[in-house]
Amino acid sequence: MTDVLIVGAGPTGLTLACDLARRGIAVRVVDKSPEYPRSSRAKGPNPRSLEVLEDLGVVGAVLAAGSAPLPMRKYRDGLPVADADPYAGSSPTPDAPYDRGRLIAQWRLEEILRDRLAESGTAVETGTEVVGLTDRDTTVAVAFADGSGTDARYVVGCDGAHSRVRKLLGVTFDGETEAEQQMVCGDVEITPGVLDRDVWHQWFDEDGAVMLCPIPGTRIGWWYQSGPERDAEGRALAPSLEGFRRLFARHTRLPAGHLTGAALLSTYRVNVRMADRYRVGRVLLAGDAAHVHAIAGGLGMNTGIQDAFNLGWKLAQVLRGRAGDELLDTYEEERLPVAAWTLDLTSERLRATLEAIRKPGGGLDTAVTPSTTGLDRGYRWSSLARPGGHGGVRSGDRAPDAPCADAGTGVPTRLFRVLAGPHITVLGFGPGTEHTLREAAAAHGDTVRTVRVYDAGEAPEAPLPGALHDRDGHARTAYGVAGDTVVVIRPDNHVGLISDADGHGAALRYLDVLDGAPEADRMWGAGMVDGTGKG
Ligand SMILES: Cc1cc2nc3c(=O)[nH]c(=O)nc-3n(C[C@H](O)[C@H](O)[C@H](O)COP(=O)(O)OP(=O)(O)OC[C@H]3O[C@@H](n4cnc5c(N)ncnc54)[C@H](O)[C@@H]3O)c2cc1C
Repeated sequence: MTDVLIVGAGPTGLTLACDLARRGIAVRVVDKSPEYPRSSRAKGPNPRSLEVLEDLGVVGAVLAAGSAPLPMRKYRDGLPVADADPYAGSSPTPDAPYDRGRLIAQWRLEEILRDRLAESGTAVETGTEVVGLTDRDTTVAVAFADGSGTDARYVVGCDGAHSRVRKLLGVTFDGETEAEQQMVCGDVEITPGVLDRDVWHQWFDEDGAVMLCPIPGTRIGWWYQSGPERDAEGRALAPSLEGFRRLFARHTRLPAGHLTGAALLSTYRVNVRMADRYRVGRVLLAGDAAHVHAIAGGLGMNTGIQDAFNLGWKLAQVLRGRAGDELLDTYEEERLPVAAWTLDLTSERLRATLEAIRKPGGGLDTAVTPSTTGLDRGYRWSSLARPGGHGGVRSGDRAPDAPCADAGTGVPTRLFRVLAGPHITVLGFGPGTEHTLREAAAAHGDTVRTVRVYDAGEAPEAPLPGALHDRDGHARTAYGVAGDTVVVIRPDNHVGLISDADGHGAALRYLDVLDGAPEADRMWGAGMVDGTGKG
């Protein structure tokens, strides 16, 4: 029996599959495409997605295959008028190791995720289209286009903007399509030496625009984006190599023949839509299947990756019988407002960018704001966020990083290394938290990692196993905690609870909510688990 059938092997489905597979969940990933999908789309993970990819153990491969985001060179009438680096002046901080995203082709990132998935023995099943879903109470019967079928305990539709899963569920996808705002895209080749590969070139003229960004890992490959050519009636024409050449020559003033090849051509229309539900019984939606929006700010793929990371641990806990099925409702409770916020932000950034490019020197840097890093998204409103926290971090927020040392060996490390993996983490600041740490470890075993965080002035002869030494006080500063304080961090590295050590019962009760024995009294009341994962 498949525990989770993931429909769609884009970045959302692959992230979810990697997270579930490492938790020992029996997962299948199917994609209707006969080959691994390849398209000219996202340009890479933002800082929050890099943190997710670090947790999944693939950030090294992503950093190696990609490049740093490039400064943007803006032209008018063929002449360079301004250079802008949206990340100038930013640098990693103790609480955030990635201050900027990474440029990497979406298909290359997908390759890296597929390789990671293969390590747990799971391969994407291509040429397998889902055409039907039937809820059978404890399972979902899934029908494929070739007439075969399978049963799964849960199904997650990561099948993109035109999601068949969403349509089968009857979930509405309200919003707008801006038919007029179109862009043609593709991967093109440019004669070497014609354009500097250290910048993202953007020609914005009164009568149109062309953008060319070098594709990392290639010698002559570029991401091409422009407005479409139009016929005499103003109708947009389909993208073609010849059309790309004409637009390239018109805006760059370079010979058309320097654009030597074009592949993965597509037309992009601005769609701003989101699902009104993320869950119908045992079927859930994630990524573009649940929300689409303007590409300004580069958040589409990133929001999908972050949806998947929110959902993976919840599905696993329910399937393992460690949490009631109601835990899955917190996925929509947390991620649907993030989608609504993303739709608003990206629409506003698109408007600002379109305004900026009317003047010489305007460009895509207008789309980038501190919020497009994804680092400020949290779930303070969530029923999983217990009141608490002072200073910068509150329950629901992203858990910050902090450089510190292994308390046993003195070897420098980072909090993120301790958080990485499928477990819940309990940090204990101050000696008064040790009782809570011991009880949590005894009650939850490997699912919960307990970490005593010793302050600079504490020098224990025999530190607790796995303890950290907060030599420079970065951890206390990042979490804004004073005195004896327990911090519970969810498996997706959001803070769940911050509590004084005297209230240690609160921490233990909270752990039972995230990782309870089946008979535990849950916060949702009667949500008992029968061992099949059904509440
Ligand atoms: C031009 C352009 C530029 C972009 N730039 C950025 C950017 O810079 N940053 C960013 O974050 N995002 C960007 N995006 C958005 C990003 O590409 C998408 O948000 C992302 O691909 C969504 O990932 P997904 O896994 O949810 O869906 P998809 O990548 O669409 O994957 C869905 C998969 O489901 C499969 N499928 C569909 N139906 C079925 C079925 N019935 N059965 C089985 N399989 C099925 C499809 O074959 C496909 O492989 C851009 C998009 C475009 C078009």
